[in-house]
Amino acid sequence: MISTQDLNTLVDEIVTELRKKTTVEIEASARHIHLDRPTIDALFGKGYELTPKKPLSQPGQYVSEERLNIVGPNGKLDNVAILGPARGDSQVELSLTDALTLGLKAPLRESGHLDNTPGVTLECNGKSVDISDGVIIAQRHVHMTPEDATLFGVKNGEIVQVKVDGSRGLIFDNVVIRVSKNYSTRMHVDFDEANACGLTKGMRGAIYKK
Ligand SMILES: [Zn+2]
Repeated sequence: MISTQDLNTLVDEIVTELRKKTTVEIEASARHIHLDRPTIDALFGKGYELTPKKPLSQPGQYVSEERLNIVGPNGKLDNVAILGPARGDSQVELSLTDALTLGLKAPLRESGHLDNTPGVTLECNGKSVDISDGVIIAQRHVHMTPEDATLFGVKNGEIVQVKVDGSRGLIFDNVVIRVSKNYSTRMHVDFDEANACGLTKGMRGAIYKK
């Protein structure tokens, strides 16, 4: 005979496992910078390689030891993380609060969609580079493996809602699904969004198709 207590534990475990199949882990993405090769060369010297400090959840991506200050028309953000490796285009991802601090009107964009975005000044160790564009507020998104996309019944580019439980529970609308075999499944929100839902480590959100 199974005791009521054991049964309850078993049910809890089953519910936890099932919930993992209908929810995604949410990570807060702090303000950060991606650099192209010419900007790395200009700031750190020709052929310089960024130094990996800590791997990120997305395979091959890392936070580097190097950091930069971002200088905008009305303000400055010091010691901003650079994420490696180098990319085809430099890109600065801010929260709306950060953009207001700098005095920039940054548009909401998917990563890599940089046409008609403002530029900014990047500086460190007395050197500075003006990038002509690339400042965005990243559209909230879910990185997803093809296997999980099948499981959730969603496609690359699909817009969904994600519901977060808890005392500041809310529904994130306009969340874009991004599918690639190079991803691990995680939702990314910026710090404004993370604070809005009282995000803590390991929190998960449920995906709702629109
Ligand atoms: Zn992301």
